[in-house]
Amino acid sequence: MARRRMVYEGKAKILYEGPEPGTLIQYFKDDATAFNAQKKDVIDGKGVLNNRICEHIMTALTGIGVPNHFIRRVNMREQLIRACEIIPLEVVVRNVAAGSLSKRLGIDEGTPLPRPIIEFYYKDDDLNDPMVTEEHVIAFNWASQQDIDDMIALALRVNDFLSGLFTGVGIKLIDFKIECGRVFEGDFQRIIVADEISPDSCRLWDIKTGEKLDKDVFRRDLGNLSDAYSEVARRLGILPESGNKVAGPKLVH
Ligand code: UDP
Repeated sequence: MARRRMVYEGKAKILYEGPEPGTLIQYFKDDATAFNAQKKDVIDGKGVLNNRICEHIMTALTGIGVPNHFIRRVNMREQLIRACEIIPLEVVVRNVAAGSLSKRLGIDEGTPLPRPIIEFYYKDDDLNDPMVTEEHVIAFNWASQQDIDDMIALALRVNDFLSGLFTGVGIKLIDFKIECGRVFEGDFQRIIVADEISPDSCRLWDIKTGEKLDKDVFRRDLGNLSDAYSEVARRLGILPESGNKVAGPKLVH
């Protein structure tokens, strides 16, 4: 049996060549990193949980017509995805002040924002992913104005959908990050959501208690990360409440 070819290894995921041209296999590792990999650990089961949560979200996004790279889950840790040309930007959407925004602008964490704020960060570990403006994005040719408009529209649709999805299970979507890629269809190019959407890339707070159910649990040593991610999966109806029966999403009043 031929060994499959690794295409790329990142901090939390590995990409392998897919079974057909134009596809890749995305493998979710158990590795957790924060602060540009200055803090590292291996969290048993994190990759499995993120694979399932990401599948759930991307499938639902496909269902409402938000184009994304997900094709299907292959096994516990892997999903088949459509290959695309990744735009080297992190697109962050914020609903409530937290993290770097609170730090930079001195706004208390938890302060609701008057409208969703979108920010771009240039993906470059050596530079610590600096925040950039649309002017930089266009001047340095990372994306065109049309690409930017498409990314903003996608990010806002993802925000609306995810906010509702999480509110329905008693979780507040504070902020999240997406990455986008280009796919070419004949003479046309389209922007799609790529990478992952999981508790690694979102801030998720319990609506009633404010408990953090995301990667801040690891970043800030607040407890057991895989318990927090399991709770998100359970509420979304992905993990059984108890026993082997998979329950549907649980409405929280
Ligand atoms: N985020 C991410 N990857 C990054 C940086 C940020 O997924 O490399 C997510 C992060 O989990 C949060 C949102 O983007 O949901 C905003 O992060 P922020 O700018 O506040 O930075 P942080 O405080 O995470 O360093």
